[in-house]
Amino acid sequence: MKLLEGRRGLVVGVANKRSIAWAIAQALAGAGMRLALTYQGERLRDNVLELAATLPDTLVYPCDVTSDAQIAAVFDALGREFGVLDTLVHSVAYAPREELEGAFVATSREGFRIAHDVSVYSLVALTRAALPLLEKSGQGSVIAMTYYGSEKVAANYNVMGVAKAALESAVRYLAADLGPKGIRVNAISAGPVNTLAARGVRGFTQILQHHAEKAPLRRNVEPREIGDAALFLASPLASGITGAVLFVDCGYNIIAV
Ligand code: NAD
Repeated sequence: MKLLEGRRGLVVGVANKRSIAWAIAQALAGAGMRLALTYQGERLRDNVLELAATLPDTLVYPCDVTSDAQIAAVFDALGREFGVLDTLVHSVAYAPREELEGAFVATSREGFRIAHDVSVYSLVALTRAALPLLEKSGQGSVIAMTYYGSEKVAANYNVMGVAKAALESAVRYLAADLGPKGIRVNAISAGPVNTLAARGVRGFTQILQHHAEKAPLRRNVEPREIGDAALFLASPLASGITGAVLFVDCGYNIIAV
């Protein structure tokens, strides 16, 4: 019997095979969880359908997280198809490219709004929409993706660092709200991974190199390792853990100088 056999999960944030969400989906499916994936807009549809076809019996829905109607449609469909949800994975972030270079003080009102709407509010909106199905699970868990730029200043990360701080705080508030219902909410703070979103941050290649040189394990994290951490957080092995930020960064965050 696999660790997540008989469980159902929704993974939001697969864009392509490099996406952290895809590594998580593979880990969860590998442990026996049946999945639904979403894609943001028609441009990504075929990519996600192709990836989903490599996992057993996986559902695929469109979902732009800035649309309440699209979020509602996903959970209507999941209510019909799954009837219950054990795990919700939020692996979504966006800020306009011009906000991810230069001075943070130059952040525009609109750039700030978009970054927080897509990268933070979406966790609240998705979790609320998922609640009836998560409650039915009796062992529901929500997992969000964050980065150390929430705590310390990372060059060019700018408004996304501020958004990740808000996301981590939202994880704690949601964990406090939903704990009495038996639902756990946690975040994984991943070291840098070469993905579409990461390449939007100016100088990302140097960040990758710097992490590999400074991290205690002297390398960058592999997407598979992030997937495995998500598997752990989704599983009964983490039944006593909620409101936590789990670093999966080869130890980078413990180093000062
Ligand atoms: P990615 O580009 O593969 O994934 C980002 C996803 O966000 C994409 O699937 C994109 O479609 C989705 N998205 C953006 N706007 C959306 C919207 N309006 N509606 C629906 N989906 C939307 O990049 P990734 O690095 O895998 O990012 C996943 C998560 O991991 C993000 O939260 C990111 O901040 C976080 N993270 C990434 C790194 C890294 O170095 N790559 C490190 C730590 C945390």
